[in-house]
Amino acid sequence: MESSDETNGAAALDTLRTAARDPRGYVGRWRAEHPGRKVLGVLPMNFPRELAHAAGVLPVIVADDQQPVTEGRAFLPEFYCGFTRNLADQAATGRFDLYDGLFVADHCIQLLGATDIVRELEPRAPVFLGQLISSLNDISAGAKIAEMVATLRTEVESFAGRTITDDALRASIRSFNRDRALMRRVFDARAAGDTCFSPVELQDVVASAQAMDPDEHHRLLSAVVAAREPRPRDDRIRVHLSGHLCHAPRRELLEVIEEAGAVVVDDDLWTGRRYLQAMVDESTPPLEAIGRWYAERNVAVPCPTRVQHDVDWDRWLLDAAERSGAEAVVHLMPKFCEPHMLYYPELRRALDTAGLPQLLVETEHEGIPLESFRTRLEALVERTHRNRPAYA
Ligand code: SF4
Repeated sequence: MESSDETNGAAALDTLRTAARDPRGYVGRWRAEHPGRKVLGVLPMNFPRELAHAAGVLPVIVADDQQPVTEGRAFLPEFYCGFTRNLADQAATGRFDLYDGLFVADHCIQLLGATDIVRELEPRAPVFLGQLISSLNDISAGAKIAEMVATLRTEVESFAGRTITDDALRASIRSFNRDRALMRRVFDARAAGDTCFSPVELQDVVASAQAMDPDEHHRLLSAVVAAREPRPRDDRIRVHLSGHLCHAPRRELLEVIEEAGAVVVDDDLWTGRRYLQAMVDESTPPLEAIGRWYAERNVAVPCPTRVQHDVDWDRWLLDAAERSGAEAVVHLMPKFCEPHMLYYPELRRALDTAGLPQLLVETEHEGIPLESFRTRLEALVERTHRNRPAYA
């Protein structure tokens, strides 16, 4: 018979899964429970959601809703990534009505293009683009980040119709940090050898955190974690998943990886460790702390849309693989994701030099060639097996 912990944990995971896969349903419920409060759509990957939360707004990271691109096709070129084309489609077909406004703090050129389309197609929803400096070695980077974070605060206040006090901001920082810290505990346990969560479950955990109020998410995730017993790793090939910026890889891909005889031990995906790795310092004045959080995110998990000469994604990847014992890397690259494409040769060279087997999988918004992916993964697993010492 199941214990009450297990029953609560299963019900809590079900709620997280539902919020991850149906943010519209979650937002509808939140609106009903918080009449008169606004919902802000924020685009990945750098908007400090704490600012909106402190203003009484629900900040939801806009997700690729996995619908086929139809009317949105007319607004962006075919060579834009699936996420941005899906975004244009959400605006073109009225699915963007979920949000009262849109805030962006990024600088991928395709994301900026998609933001302009939303602005054009959704005139009822204010759109604010606050570009945080991408060159983090720039001598004026600190001042420019501080200036932009202050502007974001003012813009959010005007959107929410409410002043953000330092106390409210500190409380929001604590809420998001607490939720991130719990997710980090789960991810760190996986990297250390615990396999009690599948990659699809972890993706649901992070994707739901990107949509939900952090206190509610934390309460549910605490119940999930309390109900799970650690499960030691078996002998499957240990794989690190890398890339897939801005949106979640299809769940079928994650399932096929483990069906092919591998176990995912760590990742740097946006719907994974990239989202939760950096904390906001609770001991410094809150606006300053948010600026530092932005600058330090690139150290926590390097991002190809940022420049920082002393931080390398390839070096980070090798260190992460060493920490988790990953024996192979699967690069998940959304088709036409320019920042990832630009960094990929360096990643490939560094892993080749280190003798780590790797596989590049280019993902599509629609129509994934699952069987060909399965065959290539099985080949990677076999190749990696040959790397293992004969007598371990
Ligand atoms: S970083 Fe990549 S996935 Fe994100 S919007 Fe830009 S091209 Fe698309």
